[in-house]
Amino acid sequence: MTYAFIFDARACSGCKACQEACKDRNKLPLGVLWRQVIEVSGGKWQKTGAAWENSVFAYNLSLACNHCVHPKCAGVCPTDAYSVRPDGIVLLDSAKCMGCGYCAWACPYGAPQYNAGQGVMTKCNFCYDSLDAGQPPSCVAACPLRVLDFGTAEALSAVEANRNLWQLPANEHPFPLAGYSRTEPHLAIRPHAGMGNSLEKTVANREELRPSGIPESIRGFTATEELPGSEELPLVAFTLLAQMAAGLAAGALALASIPWAVLLAIGALLGAGGLISFLHLGRKRNAWRAVAHLRKSWLSREVLAAGLFGAAWALAIGLAWLHRTTYAPWLMALLGLGLVYCMGRVYLLRAVPAWNTWRTPAGFFLSTAVLGALGIRLAVAGTGWAVVGGIALAAEMALVLTGPLSMRALASRLRVVLLGLGMVEAFVMAIAPQGSATGLAIPVFLIALAAEIIGRWQFYASRAPGHF
Ligand code: SF4
Repeated sequence: MTYAFIFDARACSGCKACQEACKDRNKLPLGVLWRQVIEVSGGKWQKTGAAWENSVFAYNLSLACNHCVHPKCAGVCPTDAYSVRPDGIVLLDSAKCMGCGYCAWACPYGAPQYNAGQGVMTKCNFCYDSLDAGQPPSCVAACPLRVLDFGTAEALSAVEANRNLWQLPANEHPFPLAGYSRTEPHLAIRPHAGMGNSLEKTVANREELRPSGIPESIRGFTATEELPGSEELPLVAFTLLAQMAAGLAAGALALASIPWAVLLAIGALLGAGGLISFLHLGRKRNAWRAVAHLRKSWLSREVLAAGLFGAAWALAIGLAWLHRTTYAPWLMALLGLGLVYCMGRVYLLRAVPAWNTWRTPAGFFLSTAVLGALGIRLAVAGTGWAVVGGIALAAEMALVLTGPLSMRALASRLRVVLLGLGMVEAFVMAIAPQGSATGLAIPVFLIALAAEIIGRWQFYASRAPGHF
């Protein structure tokens, strides 16, 4: 037996008693809504002859965690803080959470929410203690019109008027939910007439709902091309620093011996990235749990890869100190590239269509090549590094120009200009006489770095609109 929510959209008045009852019972702070009522409206008035006709409609959708059959939140959580009860209720143990927010990215329904006061993710628990005591969940009990209900998923499928969300064809998924479900949510909806029409629909209460964290898979919130908020800055820094470290490690293999400046830079970049990443966690004392879910979570694997990369760097620098020639640089480079691969996999989430594409790992590896090659060019002379950097910049520009971001956005245009400028200067550096080429190394690197920062910022901005 598994539990499911049942929502009758035909009769919901949008009073939000369910939303408030949930908030009261769970003492949720300002900005956190485990259940939220989304107001949808559309249609227009149109003059036909002497008469005015209208196609105006409005409906509400009460949405919480759907306690999915295949909960993506649980699969991606690096600390293994999620569990599923035998009755299908998906629980989040906040005591195990480190507040990274990854589950919120993976959930197609925006259910897990960050409690800034506690530094952890939180979400609906179906009021399991009430259920165990034979009582309904608070949201269900509070609904004055009895349009929100719950029951066993098995019983629902026998009632034809209830349409299990995950069984609906793509064009029947009610707006603003994604037009697909791979998580098989335990939610059945009696559809409102407006849900099935083909008219344009908008979310009318955007300001009331949380200002961030709504996944792109919840429609009606077009992705912004502006830069994201400051909460993503640590991830911009961590990914770029770690990718540059990996690029330096891989590039250094082509050198007869790795200069100390390059070896030290690899450690410094990886250490700084790791520290920034650690500091952005909501509950740092649980950071040790980050590798607790290697079986399923790519974030756990990314953390492990970063640790192994760091260990290989320590080995390489120790052996270099002892003047021993070993395979340590190869190990370091392989683990660095492995880290970049894991990073790419972390972002391949179906709930974030903007990230769930080959462009994500391709972009990460190109950033690794750009920063690695031009970084090494800072430390050693030689045309080869400038050529590799220039080719990587050209490939990245091609990726941007053929990508989904609009070139009308100021950030996109600035990024393309910087990539083009860096590319031209890199090739000029490659053919210039040694003396003048050395003077170009720093400006070319800084131009490329600026382009990478803008690109990574745009990458995070494309996940959630932030201003729905
Ligand atoms: Fe997890 Fe989201 Fe499904 Fe709830 S609705 S079980 S948070 S994937």
